[in-house]
Amino acid sequence: THDIHIIGGGLAGSEAAWQLAEAGFRVRLSEMRGVEGTPAHQTDGLAELVCSNSFRSDDADNNAVGLLHAEMRALGSLIMREGDRHRVPAGSALAVDRDGFSAGVTAALAAHPNVEIMRERVDALPAGPAIVATGPLTAAQLAGSIGAATGRDSLAFFDAIAPIVHRDSIDMEVAWFQSRWDKGDGADYINCPLDRDQYQAFVQGLIDGDKTEFKDWERDTPYFEGCMPIEVMASRGVETLRHGPMKPFGLRDPRTDKRPYAVVQLRQDNALGTLWNIVGFQTKLKHAEQVRLFRTIPGLEGAEFARLGGLHRNTFIRSPELLDAQLRLRSAPQIRFAGQITGCEGYIESAAVGLLAGRFAAAELAGHALEPPPSTTALGALLGHITGGAAADSYQPMNVNFGLFPPLATESKKAERKLALTSRARRDLEGWVARHPTPFASSEVEKH
Ligand code: FAD
Repeated sequence: THDIHIIGGGLAGSEAAWQLAEAGFRVRLSEMRGVEGTPAHQTDGLAELVCSNSFRSDDADNNAVGLLHAEMRALGSLIMREGDRHRVPAGSALAVDRDGFSAGVTAALAAHPNVEIMRERVDALPAGPAIVATGPLTAAQLAGSIGAATGRDSLAFFDAIAPIVHRDSIDMEVAWFQSRWDKGDGADYINCPLDRDQYQAFVQGLIDGDKTEFKDWERDTPYFEGCMPIEVMASRGVETLRHGPMKPFGLRDPRTDKRPYAVVQLRQDNALGTLWNIVGFQTKLKHAEQVRLFRTIPGLEGAEFARLGGLHRNTFIRSPELLDAQLRLRSAPQIRFAGQITGCEGYIESAAVGLLAGRFAAAELAGHALEPPPSTTALGALLGHITGGAAADSYQPMNVNFGLFPPLATESKKAERKLALTSRARRDLEGWVARHPTPFASSEVEKH
């Protein structure tokens, strides 16, 4: 007997289980490792870190992920508690002893009277209240069940991430707004012009650039024609890109009043208009190489990247379309999604979405209304991106970053802007917590 079933004992599922258990609800936490592994996990421990041991910046004043750490700590996060306990020196970053961390999370949940950990693979979406937190390597049978519930086109098995640029770092003296053949609004894209020499050097740079290799178990990752890495396109011939994503047709550079030799186009990526993705530039180039090469594009010399490109095996749903503001599947609201399968990216982001899913579910079980955290907080900004802020048809995984936050009401100097954003977040989170003092542990909820 349980009140809610959580599938997946990774970063998100462990945090969601903790939040619900602490709120007095009985959780069945199903984790398949112990019975069946994944291609990336090495152990049977809950919340295993599959790659780096870093939770990234811990600077809550100047960094969006650092702010997310602080907000999660304020909400009693188990992942942050154990991360802090198992901290290893890493400058201003929070890095952890991965074995101690995973053992700490596992022990805390195993010892909790409201949590029952089941080592089992779940193959179908449950009928009762549930949180699906099976991550980027969701087992195939359950992925099939999710695909059947959401529609096949709404479930992706790999990501094809184009780099995203902060709008205010694009040089609009060089770049200009225009849609090809002036279609749509006529000005939906930002265009960066390249002349012949610049184009050829850029294509060569893509071919020569240092790339990340696919992992063995990713090698059968299929390329769809629309998602081919840009460097693979470049290697097919010097003209390929000029007839693909870099084609200049239907465009006129207002500075020369001529058609450029080639263009790089950017398209708005979030509702706020603060982030723009480079169209068709999914890539396996190493991150440092991407920054170097993409800054050779006229207009992007000073580009600041909210996200760099990538291509990995990664199971995720088209959340902006499928989920409501409380992470419920619109077509089956007893089911919530959490973690990387919602299209967030990163250990902490996954845990944060687990924390929110757990709190929303607990409030619902207790018969309370819980409004989502304000969009000015890191939790709210991330949630807003997943559940509505991002364009559904080009939805791709995303880390938390300041580009997801609503701009400040007043202009401030660049150096002070981050501090102003984090101060606003802190104040607004406090207000939210004050408005929801006891989302769970209320007298109406029988403590088990
Ligand atoms: P997971 O932590 O993967 O947890 C999902 C759990 O569900 C797993 O334990 C899995 O065994 C279980 N499961 C799956 N299907 C079923 C089923 N049908 N029934 C029962 N259990 C099931 N992020 C970073 O911040 N830094 C990194 O360095 C980093 N490196 C990564 C490297 C790889 C190879 C991958 C794939 C991802 C990486 N990520 C990284 C991204 C991401 O942050 C992590 O994958 C993170 O663990 C996601 O958390 P999660 O809870 O959503 O999924």
